[in-house]
Amino acid sequence: MAAPHTVALVVAAGTGSRCGGDMPKQYVPIGGRALLAHALDHLRHPALSSVWLAVGEGQSDWVAQALGSRHDVASVVGGPTRQESVRRGLEAIEAAGGADRVLIHDAARPFLPRGVIDRLLTALNDADGAVPVLPLVDSLVRLAGDELGAPVDRDGLARVQTPQAFHFPSILAAHRTWLAEAVATDDAQVARAAGLRVGAVAGDEALEKVTLPGDFARAESRLAERMISRTGLGFDVHRLEAGEELWLGGVKIPHDRGLSGHSDADVALHALTDALLGAIGAGDIGTHFPPTDPQWRGAPSATFLAHAAGLVAAEGGIIDHVDLTLICEAPRIGPHRAQMRARIAELLRLPERRISIKATTTERLGFAGRGEGIAAQAVATVRTPEPL
Ligand code: MG
Repeated sequence: MAAPHTVALVVAAGTGSRCGGDMPKQYVPIGGRALLAHALDHLRHPALSSVWLAVGEGQSDWVAQALGSRHDVASVVGGPTRQESVRRGLEAIEAAGGADRVLIHDAARPFLPRGVIDRLLTALNDADGAVPVLPLVDSLVRLAGDELGAPVDRDGLARVQTPQAFHFPSILAAHRTWLAEAVATDDAQVARAAGLRVGAVAGDEALEKVTLPGDFARAESRLAERMISRTGLGFDVHRLEAGEELWLGGVKIPHDRGLSGHSDADVALHALTDALLGAIGAGDIGTHFPPTDPQWRGAPSATFLAHAAGLVAAEGGIIDHVDLTLICEAPRIGPHRAQMRARIAELLRLPERRISIKATTTERLGFAGRGEGIAAQAVATVRTPEPL
């Protein structure tokens, strides 16, 4: 029997921002990336074959920014209510060939542990739908104005989270029959109104909804807790030859000779690129820009460094610091240091205080001492999130 075709539908169509500002909360960054981008990262699961997004009208610029280089997410314009956005998303999935199972999720819950997806999909073997729930720990009470009314017995009560999982044809049919004027707070309510059986599985505190300003701060620190610090090392040498331009640290330096080699032969940027690639275990500069490929002949090395920084960002990573050492007798680096630092800061989109540039000679020993070439070493410190 073929594996069931399972898709995810993320609702990101809200226009309101309960946390203040003009930007709907699903596009507000935490750890430098939109809530939505984090929610999509956590939907990478072997059982999920595609991800659909229901977005608000006029939000395409924010969506494009949140998606970055991801092209595996299809989007559809949602409706005025959450329920209508879900229905339009389900109809779009149906029009594209349908599915066997669907996880319906909210972009405002950026951290989805894999275990929750596993539990939901297992529960679907015995039920029409499944939702993650958490117990209530606080006492519950009814309020009469600002006075306490009757206590509410929390026995048998639970907090309901998303994603909510359903057999696709049943939840589509349930949404089609739901009265447009009625307000559904979630899809389990729509499913149950259609007579579907919805099971409960254990939710996770990590799935908490980001709504109020304080939630953003909590989500930032939750993200920070998951960041692992990694260090990468880069080293490079190029030969000095007459008739070449000298590019060092992204800056053109007047000198009687220049560095020769693949691209503009900027050893400093090559060492930095390798340090960044090393920190995220993404191979080396030759893996990404083979010297045998004619398109990189004479290419500005700024392209390589920006590409490596983009790979770090695509992993949700942050570059904390880079430290570069240039090794040569001439030219003198000091007069150009500030300009190199500014250029590298610009390429890495970092403040200059997080860029260090040093220079040394080899006391006239070896190839660098004889002025035959220039060497560079670099160290990069990067933090990247570990999966939940
Ligand atoms: Mg090189």
